[in-house]
Amino acid sequence: MSLTKEDVLRIAKEKDVRFVRLQFTDIFGVLKNVAITVEQLEKALDGELMFDGSSIEGFVRIEESDMYLKPDPNTFVTFPWRPQEGSVARLICDVYTPDGEPFEGCPRCTLKRVLQEASELGYTVNVGPEAEFFLFLVDENGKPTTITHDKASYFDLTPVDLGENARRDMVIALQDMGFEVEASHHEVGPGQHEIDFKYDDALATADKIVTFKFVVRTIAQRHGLHATFMPKPLYGIAGSGMHTHLSLFANGTNVFYDPNSKYQLSETAMYFIGGLLKHARGYTAITNPTVNSYKRLVSGFEAPVYIAWSEKNRSPLVRIPARRGTGTRVEVRNPDPSCNPYLALAVLIKAGLDGVKNRIVPPPPIDKNIYALTPEERKEMQIASLPVDLNEALEELSRNPVIRAALGDHIYNRFTEAKRIEWDNYRMQVHQWELDQYLTKF
Ligand code: GLU
Ligand code: MG
Ligand code: MG
Repeated sequence: MSLTKEDVLRIAKEKDVRFVRLQFTDIFGVLKNVAITVEQLEKALDGELMFDGSSIEGFVRIEESDMYLKPDPNTFVTFPWRPQEGSVARLICDVYTPDGEPFEGCPRCTLKRVLQEASELGYTVNVGPEAEFFLFLVDENGKPTTITHDKASYFDLTPVDLGENARRDMVIALQDMGFEVEASHHEVGPGQHEIDFKYDDALATADKIVTFKFVVRTIAQRHGLHATFMPKPLYGIAGSGMHTHLSLFANGTNVFYDPNSKYQLSETAMYFIGGLLKHARGYTAITNPTVNSYKRLVSGFEAPVYIAWSEKNRSPLVRIPARRGTGTRVEVRNPDPSCNPYLALAVLIKAGLDGVKNRIVPPPPIDKNIYALTPEERKEMQIASLPVDLNEALEELSRNPVIRAALGDHIYNRFTEAKRIEWDNYRMQVHQWELDQYLTKF
């Protein structure tokens, strides 16, 4: 589907659109929007709407604050949960400087830049995400709790599961917005859910992830629940991942598939895996960007800890799902839904392409449960670990010129500056766990 400016203006009229939200994300992946009236739509589509970028975290300094929003007409869609008369629509935008250049702090432009590199090598990139989330009850003041709807319905024996109803309405809203929802199911944790939608090209998928999170949270709220994409809200219970399936296509054909080679994976697929493994320690700060992300990356909850790949086993970083032919793909298991999807896809694709360009051969697959290996066995098999915390991940990122180049200096500097402050704030806190351990003991 490719919409022009004229299409958008026509559909807006047909659907009686009154307000349009111009959306973009800051470097941390937080969705921002400016609402305009439909009378301004044409001007907006011409990229003539200016905003003050200095108030957006990680964007620009006061003295260079004028930014332009350039909407992508293909992202035009109305919000199904708003009134049908005088409806509300949105457009996702790229951020441009007054000189008419893509702004280097714009995550969507950053992903486009990496996709341009793929395109120069002759590839388009397809991506399918599996974003998990928790639904929690809110208290009498409307504040989110960490009590799951499952448990509540279990105890109070209500016949209706709030969570199931909310999830159904999320699926319907997503479908109304053009998503092809493939599956939705309850996840391992109580109150934990997953909704999977069909893969698409990387840019469209990143747009969809942003939209997805927004829809899930909005619909949950309308059901009196709080949806969270925080990676590990509850100790001792599975966290929420965003496993990411990637494949390269050339002229409409999946180039990862080769029926005649080992594992039926092409050389290109093997090199792509090689790049993903080689740069894993470098890109984890982007795919797992919060202090809390690292509490998910522990053994025992189907989240990866070790840098390896496998055809069967779910413990390593990269798994190759059984599907072959057009569906041949690699599944990267460390990303979590607190990441900025534009930046996360940019670094994953950059890592894979670096493998392809430099013919990085991955080590042999590990088909054992890596969690069950002893540290000595892992050392012998040269299986490294992902960074254990945000601090280590930032160190690794600082030492990885390939991943830094994917981000560009502006985003790298703003991102790491903010994340170091986040880490320091966390590091200096005295947590309940410490009081429980030490207050009476010493
Ligand atoms: N919740 C798991 C994770 O944190 C994934 C479970 C699954 O395989 O879908 O990655
Ligand atoms: Mg899952
Ligand atoms: Mg998966």
